[in-house]
Amino acid sequence: MRWSGRDILFRNWLPLWLPVFSEAASIGVVFIGVLGLFGWAIGYAPLIQLSPHYVGLNPVTALVLVLSGTGLWIRTSQSTISNPLWRKIAVLLGFMVALVGVLNLAQHLFRLSFCIDQIFFVGKLGAWEFSRRAAMAPNEAVCFIFSGLVLVFFDLETKEGFRPSQALILAQGLIALLALLGYGYRALSSYKPGSAIAISIPSAVALGLWTLGSLAARPDAGIMQVITSLTTGGAMARRLLPMALLVPIVLAAVWFLGQKAGYFETEAGVSMFAVSSILIFTTLIWWNARLLFKADVKRMRTEKHLAVQYKSTRALAEANNLEQAFSKIIEAICTSIGWSVGTGWIVDEKGNVLRCVSVWCSKELEASEFVEMTRSSSFEKGQGLPGRVWTSGQPVWIEDVVPDSNFPRGKAALRAGLHGAFAFPVRLGSESLGIIECFSKTIERPDAALLEMLTAIGSQIGQFIERQRAEEQLRQTSSELARSNTDLQQFAYVASHDLFEPLRMVKSFLQLLREHSSGKLDKESEEFISYAMDGANRMRALISDLLAYSRVDRQGQSMEPTDCNLVLEGALANLKVAIDESGAKISHPPLPTVEGDLVQLIQLFQNLIGNAIKFHGEEPPRVDITVTRKEGEWIFCFRDNGIGIDPKHFERIFEIFQRLHTREEYPGTGIGLSICKRIVERHGGRIWVESTPGQGSAFYFSFPVMRG
Ligand code: ADP
Repeated sequence: MRWSGRDILFRNWLPLWLPVFSEAASIGVVFIGVLGLFGWAIGYAPLIQLSPHYVGLNPVTALVLVLSGTGLWIRTSQSTISNPLWRKIAVLLGFMVALVGVLNLAQHLFRLSFCIDQIFFVGKLGAWEFSRRAAMAPNEAVCFIFSGLVLVFFDLETKEGFRPSQALILAQGLIALLALLGYGYRALSSYKPGSAIAISIPSAVALGLWTLGSLAARPDAGIMQVITSLTTGGAMARRLLPMALLVPIVLAAVWFLGQKAGYFETEAGVSMFAVSSILIFTTLIWWNARLLFKADVKRMRTEKHLAVQYKSTRALAEANNLEQAFSKIIEAICTSIGWSVGTGWIVDEKGNVLRCVSVWCSKELEASEFVEMTRSSSFEKGQGLPGRVWTSGQPVWIEDVVPDSNFPRGKAALRAGLHGAFAFPVRLGSESLGIIECFSKTIERPDAALLEMLTAIGSQIGQFIERQRAEEQLRQTSSELARSNTDLQQFAYVASHDLFEPLRMVKSFLQLLREHSSGKLDKESEEFISYAMDGANRMRALISDLLAYSRVDRQGQSMEPTDCNLVLEGALANLKVAIDESGAKISHPPLPTVEGDLVQLIQLFQNLIGNAIKFHGEEPPRVDITVTRKEGEWIFCFRDNGIGIDPKHFERIFEIFQRLHTREEYPGTGIGLSICKRIVERHGGRIWVESTPGQGSAFYFSFPVMRG
């Protein structure tokens, strides 16, 4: 969101500085009270009454001002605001202030005489020339009751957000304002001040300050929340409220002075007051309404732009191909901004012309000629509106296309009643892949913000096109990969299958040759025959492993619940000779039932146990099988005490034909673990190894736990 300079100003300083002002105001109130008390102590009258004509500040009033100022400071200062002890002190001060007010008011109302305002400086009060005018006034007492209650219930708030304390603050503010205005207007008059105003000037000032300070103490609560907020309501309150206060005060002063100077009669004064109020307030309200109007227009435009952005992003997300994306986005843009026709252009494969791929036209518009013409047109660089955008790579706005010299469809546009137009590029980096145009029935003034936003959408569409192309390429590559994989499997299967027969022949003829020539050949020739037999045997093992490998996917059986205890039994039966010869010990817990292919699972178990026996160390081989259940998977572990594997080969050993030893060291084809990997993956699991050379290996594989 972009804030205007004005907003930032209010956002930054108003809620930050109001509590500071509040603290300063509370200190000001305490200061006035202390000054009054000091005046009484040293008997210096100007500190108490400013001028001999005015009422003096009662010493108890001065003390109460100190108390209420301190209370406000506690309620507003960062150092005390959230401390429970200080809060209690503020409440206590509030009670004391309110109590003084109540006692004094009772004194006035019921003619009682607690002499609450005469407890200090009794002697001086008695000797005071205007002693009766240094008493605490009833309206002052009311103010104290209010401010005392405010201090007690400072943060009380109803569910609806109403703060009783703020109502009391305002009421006390009105009383203070009344007294201050009275003093103000009296100062304008040359009459001798009478005794009607009973609040002393220092007290009135202090009460006014207290009102402002306590309102500022919570800038984000109650009525202050509206005033300090960044909303249009807040802006209006900030503009109008000071005026609503100041204008009547100033007008009344002018009226008062004018009348005193004899410029006009009372009636004329009243009517002038009324007319000036009307004039000033009408101007103020109109000015304010204009600002609100402008803000609203801006907001509505932003909303429209947001709608365009939202709809086009959605259209892009939903589109399956380029044509669909274009037509949906063009419709989204035109309907959101209320324009009648939209067209989409793509740079053709050879890259030398723009071709129309999509046209959207509002139902109310009869523009078949324009639409047909657009569909059948193609534009070169610089030609027409799309050509111009293509050349510059920048959006273009034409207020009216009809008189435009570089708009070949001008006449058709005129007959369709189309005038305003803009176009923006669909870009990938600096390359323009296409153009989108929109037409309106009216002549339209350029909207830079709209164009800026649409250019961003153009880049989004460009990325979409790029993604589509990449996806298409990926699809092609993976289908090629799948085809070549199938071919390879087919080849491996056919080759290994068909090689068996000639190999069998080679073996049996070698066998025959050996029997036939037994004792007739020299030792060397017999050795040659042995080598040939050996090679044929190895080749047989290799072909049979290769066949097993290519069969994992080709000839796998359907998956069924398979008891792994039976699987293990099958594998151990197949390995019986090797186990007996090596004296291998195999331990295992009861094994779970998994969804799988029995034959392949036996092969998996057999390969792993077979390897553990084959790659044994000095001690007789031991295989510990364990199984744990973790996050919806069975994790099987085949741990042996064999020669172990160097961690740098952990990945490699699962690849086909990868062996870490020569045939002389350990026999094998290097296919066993790659078969295991294929089997595990076909069952939806993973296989991995952990090992330390010389300390045995642990082969792990996971299987999904059966549902239900
Ligand atoms: P082969 O056993 O036919 O050599 P595999 O694919 O089964 O082929 O194993 C690949 C290589 O992984 C083996 O040559 C061997 O070096 C290593 N290997 C497999 N299992 C173990 C094991 N339990 N202990 C040590 N090394 C092993």
